[in-house]
Amino acid sequence: MSTARSAPGARGSPQLTSALWCARRGWAVFPMQPQGKLPLRGCERCSPFLPGGTVPNPAYERHAGHSCPCHAEGRWCHGVLAATTNAEIITGWWRTEPRANVGLHTGRSHLVVIDVDAHGGNRPEAPAAFLPGRRLPEGCAPRTLVSGWDTLAVLAEVNHQPLPMVEPPTLAVLTPRAGLHLYYAVDPGSLWRQSNGALAWAVDVRAGDSHVPVPGTVVRAGCYLAQGDVKEPAALPTWLAAELRRTGHWPPPPRAPSLLPAPRSVSGGRGLVETVVTNALTAVANAADGERNRSLWVAGRSLGRLVGVGLMSESDAVALITEAGEQRGISRHEAKAQKTIAGGIEAGKREPFVPRDPRTARTRDRS
Ligand SMILES: [Zn+2]
Ligand SMILES: [Zn+2]
Repeated sequence: MSTARSAPGARGSPQLTSALWCARRGWAVFPMQPQGKLPLRGCERCSPFLPGGTVPNPAYERHAGHSCPCHAEGRWCHGVLAATTNAEIITGWWRTEPRANVGLHTGRSHLVVIDVDAHGGNRPEAPAAFLPGRRLPEGCAPRTLVSGWDTLAVLAEVNHQPLPMVEPPTLAVLTPRAGLHLYYAVDPGSLWRQSNGALAWAVDVRAGDSHVPVPGTVVRAGCYLAQGDVKEPAALPTWLAAELRRTGHWPPPPRAPSLLPAPRSVSGGRGLVETVVTNALTAVANAADGERNRSLWVAGRSLGRLVGVGLMSESDAVALITEAGEQRGISRHEAKAQKTIAGGIEAGKREPFVPRDPRTARTRDRS
């Protein structure tokens, strides 16, 4: 044999071939660590941590990955957010790092991937937690549900639908730990988003800015192997789309912050109040890696100050921040995030917002 395996020749490495094959069919890809699933480290300015991933990088400059200028310059900073279908950029990346694994950005590839887990860790205690919002069918004992294969099958059953692993035939990739990735095509521009276990226990949804290793990827634990003859993703079945919507994988229609009628004394401060809300939510939606949790708390405090003077209901404050968080890829089902938001709001309520309204000031002067 030649040295092709260790020193890619003019035609490049198998990973480059695979990345270009994906790009040709409109799938956006980015480089991951050789034999791994973590993204390659970006440039110094864009990397919050030093190599190794635990020590803060003094050269890091806080900024939003979505709008990072490194991408226009063809760099792979910010992992999945660098994903592209540009063959020239892809070729450059894998010439630099021929052994890099290929990650696929689900949203930009117009895909939703149902990620079925086979390892039954963290089994829930409550029967209701196996299928959130759904009753288990008559005669289904929770102890028989030991993996995502089971819960997805039961979800199909309660919908009177065939097993998703069987019908409709779609690209299905066996994962190294005997899980399954079911690929479904969705409309370009659709807003499906990811979750961990929100659809069913041990079933994750990869969508939006989420990613999966492409079929054929080899990691230390094993391979991602396409099963059978079907190489194309089927359209997302209607019933599954309805279940995804029901379980919060599609954002509700955007809504303006609904401020409660303000007391007369602060009506002149409405513009200022709206600015406070907009700024807080924008900061969450664009939070840099490593700043997401902090941004939730800060937004909670800002909106909590409005709650404290009756300008906004607490439930609206939580909903608005949650929605902004989802734009940043923070699931509404993340308990830690919800706790952080609630903590921020509590802090804000203790220091109520006082708008600097000139008329209010004059009234005070007269008294
Ligand atoms: Zn960069
Ligand atoms: Zn950057």
